[in-house]
Amino acid sequence: MDQLLKGKVAIVTGGTRGIGYAIVKKYIQEGATVVLCGSRESTAQEALAKVKAEFPEAVVDALAPDLTSIESVNKAFAYVKEKFGSVDVVANNAGISQNIPLEKYTEEDIDKIIAVNIKAVFVCSQAAANIMKEQENGGVIINTSSMVSKNGQPSGCAYPASKFAVNGFTKSLARELGKYKIRVNAVAPGITRTDMLAVLPDAMIQPLIKNIPLGRVGEPEDIANAYAFLASDMASFITGDILSVDGGSVV
Ligand code: NAD
Repeated sequence: MDQLLKGKVAIVTGGTRGIGYAIVKKYIQEGATVVLCGSRESTAQEALAKVKAEFPEAVVDALAPDLTSIESVNKAFAYVKEKFGSVDVVANNAGISQNIPLEKYTEEDIDKIIAVNIKAVFVCSQAAANIMKEQENGGVIINTSSMVSKNGQPSGCAYPASKFAVNGFTKSLARELGKYKIRVNAVAPGITRTDMLAVLPDAMIQPLIKNIPLGRVGEPEDIANAYAFLASDMASFITGDILSVDGGSVV
């Protein structure tokens, strides 16, 4: 079968572990040149070494821009464009979760989740669009929502709030950027087996599995497959969509 992303250049934020790392690997398998972003230079370089060991032929690089800084992200994306010729796909995957009851929230907690889950998605999309607008074939931006953007969650309300914001941002940007051949979609993962899940108590996870018709939690690869589809030309007429990848979760 032909590779879905042959010749494309993709940037994956939060590409050092979990879902992001699975996206990096899937994009490489599908023929893309990939630049993974980490929150620190050291973790980005560690992930890069790991990917290179697994895919010695891959064209892959790693950066650690401050995703909340317009200047830092523009600089990083310009470097990618300069080095690899284009920026065709930006996967805004970096994110943090919270499980804090409302009364325990500090200003710092609120600012942190807004910075990573909303501001960084905004800043990276702006930098991506600046480059993609000038490209003949536009580009693709894929944001990471969550299944909690349907009905919220019982604690840690800032997390679903941030993902509802991602949905609104995604739908709006799809309308604004369509004329430049830039498609903007989001993937809404269900409960997925990553470090983010590892911090949740089993008592919280088991009842959730009962509400998943497919009867299991997702694997990072399940989510990465959706990222590959949406990044590819197979999804050429899909924009402004929030694609649930959650085993049909009814929570
Ligand atoms: P993870 O904790 O395993 O990985 C998060 C990634 O984000 C890491 O690479 C980390 O370096 C990066 N990151 C975190 N803070 C950052 C910062 N300040 N600057 C730059 N990078 C930063 O999490 P995951 O489970 O792989 O989650 C990835 C995305 O999927 C997140 O947006 C998350 O909200 C979403 N999601 C996850 C689940 C799940 O069950 N795991 C469900 C729904 C949505």
